[in-house]
Amino acid sequence: MNTQDKKPPLLFSTTFMFAATALVSLIVVPWYGFTHGYSAAAWGLFALFWLLNGLSITAGYHRLWAHSTYKAHPALSWFLAIWGAQTLQNSILVWSAQHRNHHKYVDQNDKDPYSAGKGLWYSHIGWMLRDYPSGETDFNNVPDLKRDPIVMWQHRWYWPLTAFMNIGAPMLLGWALGEFWGIVLLAGVLRLFVAHHLTFFINSLAHFWGKQTYTEKNSARDNWMLALLTWGEGYHNFHHLFQSDYRNGIRWWQYDLTKWFINICRVTGLASGLRRVPKFRILRARLTMEFIRAQRKVEDSPLDQNWKTLIEQEYLQFKSTIQEWQELQAERANEVSEKLISRWQKTAFHTHVKELEYRLKMQRRRLALISVSLVK
Ligand SMILES: [Zn+2]
Ligand SMILES: [Zn+2]
Repeated sequence: MNTQDKKPPLLFSTTFMFAATALVSLIVVPWYGFTHGYSAAAWGLFALFWLLNGLSITAGYHRLWAHSTYKAHPALSWFLAIWGAQTLQNSILVWSAQHRNHHKYVDQNDKDPYSAGKGLWYSHIGWMLRDYPSGETDFNNVPDLKRDPIVMWQHRWYWPLTAFMNIGAPMLLGWALGEFWGIVLLAGVLRLFVAHHLTFFINSLAHFWGKQTYTEKNSARDNWMLALLTWGEGYHNFHHLFQSDYRNGIRWWQYDLTKWFINICRVTGLASGLRRVPKFRILRARLTMEFIRAQRKVEDSPLDQNWKTLIEQEYLQFKSTIQEWQELQAERANEVSEKLISRWQKTAFHTHVKELEYRLKMQRRRLALISVSLVK
């Protein structure tokens, strides 16, 4: 055997934890349900813990700390840090350091900690079961988080906190409500098993299954079904291209529970400075992909020259709109730096951007009509 193929040593405690929670969830939990039954309170606690675990990872670990897409009031940060410890996905600091490397080196098998290039199993859970060099935590990429006292407190007390939240809290609640094993099994073990694997789907399935709406430069996919299971994180293709945006599902009808949660926090004063990528950049990325697809269709089929010319003309128009937008941005940057911007200039700039956005929208419609005609 080639020495390079030799797998790193198995991490026994992690492997045991995943195996034990899976076996108990799949065997003991149903057995106990059939023989003893579960009360509504046990199911209620399961649902509540699951929801809070999910939001702590998506609104906390992911969008607040790993990507700084908004600012949180200390009350919200504490809340997300404490419930986040119950997810048993490591401290905010470690999780964010690994996640930033996932974005920076996406699909590079030797650097992306959960590279989809190494397959579905590896990106889902395999990367945590062995001591892979790519999984080494690089704390140099989280200088901002090292200055955050709540993050550092959670990092320091992570193990006692996670033990209390996972073992102590379900046991105490089970004892207090007179249903010790029922609550330990549902709110303790089954909740952990379900929350773990649904979060892991983002690293695995969301890099294999779905549409590449905005870019093909990495393996991330947009998938509404995964969004339903992951508090809105299924729009992963958008997220990989626009990681500074607090949203993953950008349309009002796209299910993104985390986006709505952050918005509720904004209204109540718990969140501020929500970051959004300019609409024009999003439209530009989307149209670029649609042109690529249309051009592929044309290349694959023997069409008459008129269609090819039409797509080329549309593409030239698209390029000129982009150029106009870039010039406008540069002009604006100069004006802002010189502090010469007047209200009239601001309005004129805004109207011009809106006009360019409208042009792209119309072009998308025309391109969609051309694509439908090409299929026939
Ligand atoms: Zn991310
Ligand atoms: Zn990803």
